[in-house]
Amino acid sequence: MAPAAERIRELAFDCGFDLVRFGPVDPGPFGQHFLSWLEKGRHGEMQYLADNRERIVEPQTWRQGVRSAITLAVDYGGPPAQLDGGGQVARYASGRDYHRWLRDRVYKLRTTLEQEGVPYGSMNGGADAVPVLERALAVRSGIGFLAKSAMVISPTHGPYLQLAELLTGMDLPPDGPSPGSCGTCTACIDACPTQAIVAPHEVDARRCLSYTTIELRGPIPRDLRAKQGDHFFGCDVCLEVCPFTKRSSLLPRTGGDRPRDLQPHRLLATWTLVDVLELDAAEYQAEWTGTAMRRATQSGLRRNAAVVLGNLGDPSALPALERALADNDPLVRGHAAWAIGRIAPRHASLDRALSREVDATVRNDIASTIDENR
Ligand code: SF4
Ligand code: SF4
Repeated sequence: MAPAAERIRELAFDCGFDLVRFGPVDPGPFGQHFLSWLEKGRHGEMQYLADNRERIVEPQTWRQGVRSAITLAVDYGGPPAQLDGGGQVARYASGRDYHRWLRDRVYKLRTTLEQEGVPYGSMNGGADAVPVLERALAVRSGIGFLAKSAMVISPTHGPYLQLAELLTGMDLPPDGPSPGSCGTCTACIDACPTQAIVAPHEVDARRCLSYTTIELRGPIPRDLRAKQGDHFFGCDVCLEVCPFTKRSSLLPRTGGDRPRDLQPHRLLATWTLVDVLELDAAEYQAEWTGTAMRRATQSGLRRNAAVVLGNLGDPSALPALERALADNDPLVRGHAAWAIGRIAPRHASLDRALSREVDATVRNDIASTIDENR
């Protein structure tokens, strides 16, 4: 016999989750919002979202027999994180790859529930991997409310939440929605460096640094590069300014005092932006495996490092950026030129780079940099 609802909740807390709720398996009205967001193209190059739209909106089509979702959240709030000397890293990506530790906890819960009588193979679980609208399920079950930043905010734990879920064939009593709302606050909309929150609850991913520095595979749009500031990987601005942030139970805990999975990765203490600009394939494989930052790809990380070096404006980065003008990777060459233009607007290396450049996109990038700085 399957365990009672409160026993399931207890087991989930034991597996390391801070919030555990029960709710429907489908996104309800949020499904329509998602489809309209896709229609407007606001997902950018995240084609997997468009390709999986039916499965996302109707989980029963790919997992027949699911009736209730166990929604789960881990509070990961903490101090700001950055590379050695500068280059901010979003908090969620600053420790061990969250896909791994969150998945471990979900699988542990699934195994525990099977040991307690839930039929083997009757649960689908994931963490940012199965095709569901995670935030919609979290809101419908009451993990938190949908905020104007489009994040889920828990009235007790704030907005730094890693979400996961188990879709089950059990009929669990729904917990219902969470109390709380943004009220009249607009702090995140006002503070967003790229104006990516285009309306309350709606982010245009194409302008959001959490997309442009991670998911985007090509050049970062030129009008967003200066706005990127010192954000090397992702962006926490809309979370940092949120008045609910102080509710995070982990916020005051730093360094070795934090749970092991959330402790800052050793990379952060040893790698500088110049090191990342010169990151080679072997180092990427050997040193960056096990971090969520790998998601951006070797080329994307180097592109991001160039942009942040340009924005920090330190002339000591110029020799590395000049070397990058001759790099094999066109993405790195184009962004290095832009960065040089930020630090030393009329630098002679830009004309030399333009005269030998063969890639049309990079030529345009270099020519625009020269034109803008005339
Ligand atoms: S993550 Fe940053 S860029 Fe994206 S919406 Fe929030 S504040 Fe704006
Ligand atoms: S900053 Fe204000 S408007 Fe934005 S999510 Fe937080 S409470 Fe809501």
